[in-house]
Amino acid sequence: MRGDENVEIDWSAVDRWIMGESWVGSRVSEHLQILTDRLAPRWAGSDGERQTIDYLVDQWRGLNLNQPRSENFSFNTWDPGVAHLTVKGDDCWKAEIRPFLFCPPASINAPLVDVGYGMPHELEAIGARLSGAIAICNSELEPFSPARTFPSRVQDIADAGGVAIVSPNRRLAPRWTSYQSAHDWRDGFGPRMPIPVVQTTREDGARLQRSAVAGVMVAMEVLTSFLDGESANTVAELSGERWPDEHIVLGAHHDTVPTSFGADDNGSGTVVALEVARVLSKLQREQGVTPGVNIRFVTFGAEEQFLQGSFAYVKRHHGPEQHPRIMVNLDQLGTGNMKGVALQFPELRQVMEKELASMNDGLRCHVIAQLDSSGDMFPFTLAGIPSAILWRWRFVGAYPETAFGHSSADTIDKLKIRELKEYVGLLSRFLFRLSHIPPDTWPENRLNRREIAARNKAEQGATFNSSPR
Ligand SMILES: [Zn+2]
Repeated sequence: MRGDENVEIDWSAVDRWIMGESWVGSRVSEHLQILTDRLAPRWAGSDGERQTIDYLVDQWRGLNLNQPRSENFSFNTWDPGVAHLTVKGDDCWKAEIRPFLFCPPASINAPLVDVGYGMPHELEAIGARLSGAIAICNSELEPFSPARTFPSRVQDIADAGGVAIVSPNRRLAPRWTSYQSAHDWRDGFGPRMPIPVVQTTREDGARLQRSAVAGVMVAMEVLTSFLDGESANTVAELSGERWPDEHIVLGAHHDTVPTSFGADDNGSGTVVALEVARVLSKLQREQGVTPGVNIRFVTFGAEEQFLQGSFAYVKRHHGPEQHPRIMVNLDQLGTGNMKGVALQFPELRQVMEKELASMNDGLRCHVIAQLDSSGDMFPFTLAGIPSAILWRWRFVGAYPETAFGHSSADTIDKLKIRELKEYVGLLSRFLFRLSHIPPDTWPENRLNRREIAARNKAEQGATFNSSPR
């Protein structure tokens, strides 16, 4: 028997209704086409993102949710501009380059030096030759030494006098580059990269490494700029009838990197959040079955820009408001089918396992060993709010065709629509169950904000135990 005696829920009827509605009534394809073909790129602060915000608020309103709204915030943004790299000399040629996100502008003439992975022993061997030079450096983890993150190696190269970095994309895709970050997100948004970092294609990277042996000079022109921007999160709520002062959050970022269609990252998570809201609100309307606590749906802006949307959300709401019992974050659901959830903190493990087991679909729960800063759950984590993320499961049985994100190759044809419908059904059942757990039985997070900040600081510079993707 769950919760109060006077609430009788026929769970198997609810489960059947939810799965049927998730499948047969699905609007996954329709929303995805609008978000990608019509509104992308949705880089926060752009017209595409503003139209996306209007679209999402309209959807929340159409679902009869409470207080559908956008919550504006000002943030620090960046324009990628254009970038050129010319190799001088007899063999003059132009390499294709793309700045890393938030790369500062540059206009540099300098010799090119191959630093391998930019590991300490490699930089020591190169010595003074690096001073005033542009380094060509692999961004992956070097496989022979204690691991050192790319952001740490960028700092090492700057400290050794390097003036810029060119990093070849290593993925086996013809002439391909994507927008990546060279920051450790555990540092938050303050520190900018100490020197410009750009990416080049695998092919041009290999050619640059050959050119570096001959001791060539290169000219690098990067016309990026830093700006003040306006973005918004969108918020709406489905009311719970048993504990209306309590809530849980389902979140997903709606923005993309520049030039991306953002089908997987993160049209997939945004659309699933819309669909879970549709299914649960229709369950209430047509079947008279209502969540226990409120379920708040949030889409975040500026996730790709140092999580500035979710930081703004947490600052605005927690704080003054009661913490949600849990925040469930959806990001890049196209990378694989739903396998379970991963927690940042261990306290809720048994609670999650019990609910997942009751669904009888083989879903599992893990607690990750390091705080994960790479998504919108992170500001919640720093505030001490437990989160369930689906992120880490991306590395288990991931689909190779979704490995080309953060570029114009992130398109709907890479997604498995039927699996997104399954996510909608499974997550709707999961959230509905969570909403009916009596709030006073949820275990509290044992760490306070200060202890969490200390743990985050201790983990800075540590490499993530994830796949090489
Ligand atoms: Zn994402």
